[in-house]
Amino acid sequence: MSEDFYTNLSHEERKIIVDKGTEAPFKGEYNEFFEAGLFICRACRSPLYESNTKFNAGCGWPSFDDEIEGAVVRKEDFSAGRIRTEICCSKCDGHLGHVFEGEQITEKNTRHCVNSLSIQFKSYKNLSKVYFGAGCFWSVEKLFKIQKGVYLSQVGYMGGDTDNPRYKDICTGDTNHVEVVEVYYDEKVISFTDLLNIFWENHNPTTPNQQGFDIGSQYRSVVFYTSENQKKIAEESILVQELNWKKTIVTEVIIAPIFYRAEEYHQNYLNKNNLGICGV
Ligand SMILES: [Zn+2]
Repeated sequence: MSEDFYTNLSHEERKIIVDKGTEAPFKGEYNEFFEAGLFICRACRSPLYESNTKFNAGCGWPSFDDEIEGAVVRKEDFSAGRIRTEICCSKCDGHLGHVFEGEQITEKNTRHCVNSLSIQFKSYKNLSKVYFGAGCFWSVEKLFKIQKGVYLSQVGYMGGDTDNPRYKDICTGDTNHVEVVEVYYDEKVISFTDLLNIFWENHNPTTPNQQGFDIGSQYRSVVFYTSENQKKIAEESILVQELNWKKTIVTEVIIAPIFYRAEEYHQNYLNKNNLGICGV
């Protein structure tokens, strides 16, 4: 143990990081937290996990399916009457949690189950954020996830009448939520105009509340912007699209309301399920 790194820890942090305790499930600061950035060690501040490896395992603790290379060490742990693999920070040896393999929740088939009290979030300030609704969010996510310059994409619900909607609530169309994809991107690598072009090329913006066979207000075409610049560019591009389509564009351009992240089984769905297209 590297005691120097532990002198400033609170009593609660010490119980986890030094004494290898476990915080109560569903109570930690980062259990339901999905923003773009980096998770560092709370003791020595060394980078441990990228937020694009974080997922919701439903277990009550922050879960990651990969570590930053070399950041974490694994140790056999025979406590609690079973064999587990403990994970610690490789720089200061502080306890993080345990790692589990073979649960098949994400493609990497690995779950780092980490205490919120062992880590600290640092937001990536260089990234911009926008939300697109363009029909079934499974295929829309796949479109954006593969783009160079997109750091993080995740699916969810926005713009409806109820709080904390779940899939069963929104799929009737009654709550007025849209299936959306949240995209964090680096403007230096991919511009908002590039993202908009992908959006326009991959759905039909002239059919109200409908994409192909998918009908309902949850499939409406919408850009939820987070900056005035995005708003301006999106509105201008609608005029261009009207000339291209020679029809009215029904796409809404609206300031982003609260994003409700969808259930984990919807995240990266087409990859998880090895499907090429939607509507299966
Ligand atoms: Zn550390």
